[in-house]
Amino acid sequence: MTDSDSTLDTDVYYDEDADRSAIDDKTVAVLGYGSQGHAHAQNLHDSGVDVIVGLREDSSSRAAAEGDGLRVETPADAAAEADIVSVLVPDTVQPTVYEEIEPGIEEGDTLQFAHGFNIHYNQIVPKDGVDVTMVAPKSPGHLVRRNYEAGEGTPGLLAVYQDATGEAREEGLAYAHAIGCTRAGVVETTFREETETDLFGEQAVLCGGVTSLVKQGYETLVDAGYSREMAYFECLNELKLIVDLMYEGGLGEMWDSVSDTAEYGGLVKGDEVVDEHARENMEGVLEAVQDGTFAREWIAENQAGRPSYTQLREAEKNHDIEDVGEDLRSLFAWDADEAAEDGEGEE
Ligand code: NAD
Ligand code: MG
Ligand code: MG
Ligand code: MG
Ligand code: MG
Repeated sequence: MTDSDSTLDTDVYYDEDADRSAIDDKTVAVLGYGSQGHAHAQNLHDSGVDVIVGLREDSSSRAAAEGDGLRVETPADAAAEADIVSVLVPDTVQPTVYEEIEPGIEEGDTLQFAHGFNIHYNQIVPKDGVDVTMVAPKSPGHLVRRNYEAGEGTPGLLAVYQDATGEAREEGLAYAHAIGCTRAGVVETTFREETETDLFGEQAVLCGGVTSLVKQGYETLVDAGYSREMAYFECLNELKLIVDLMYEGGLGEMWDSVSDTAEYGGLVKGDEVVDEHARENMEGVLEAVQDGTFAREWIAENQAGRPSYTQLREAEKNHDIEDVGEDLRSLFAWDADEAAEDGEGEE
């Protein structure tokens, strides 16, 4: 657990906090073999846990899972045989898949998720008598697998929604251990907190906020007569360097690494651009997440065959910054790893 002089609100759990006997004699069904599914299934298997991958008869992932040495059954058969069912199909198809597997979920079994959307917004209503937990690596699946193979871990979240057996938490922590998360550290949260912060973060800051900032910066420069290439470099390409510094050492390391002119200008002008209106808009985004408005909108959009989503995707693809970026990226060796491999990696 975390040191007592830490400023963190929550404890962080490591390998020594987990009791593997809570999972070692159980069978885990991993439904789906995508980003998270392939990583959980292979890590569990390599940790000595009995794993069945659940995939449709016609799934193109069947060959991959079998090629990785795993047993594959239909989702319904895998779930019926298992004690723990890890639901790692896309969030939008989980309610349909749940209908198929529900008959095989018995009292004392565990339904486990890597994101809380369907439970939190009642798209899946689990039976009484079943444990419902979340073990969510804070990273794409390929890193969960790669880190595990390298003997390292991936930080993760643990949450218990329903504890029918009194052992849900121990079992979730043991699962986190078996996929390598407790090597790096596991933080306890709730389905509500994970779902709402995840949706807010991706909408307001990570995926939505940052792309809008990039596009508007690019458009401002191009509209003022500057070249598309310069606008692309300044507003998109350089973002990675700034984010890498923040990732390594917080805002402080970034401010320390840029020039004093950049630091002063950034400190003065940043809040002028992303001002109190942006803050009010963020509060509106959060409210729509909290009161379920966004969830209802997204569920209805899927039921209608994704008409707006398709249009928005198309418009984003056709933005000028995508054309100039594609051309520029094909002309230069961007990738730092590639450049280093070619012996051209000096700063
Ligand atoms: P994914 O889209 O990569 O893979 C889903 C897999 O499910 C597919 O490869 C396929 O094997 C199967 N599948 C697809 N459609 C199906 C259908 N109609 N019926 C049955 N099976 C189907 O999914 P993912 O990104 O690994 O997401 C799985 C869960 O993990 C989600 O709850 C997601 O929110 C969560 N999660 C993802 C990440 C991430 O980085 N990708 C990180 C943390 C949590
Ligand atoms: Mg079962
Ligand atoms: Mg159980
Ligand atoms: Mg998300
Ligand atoms: Mg610059």
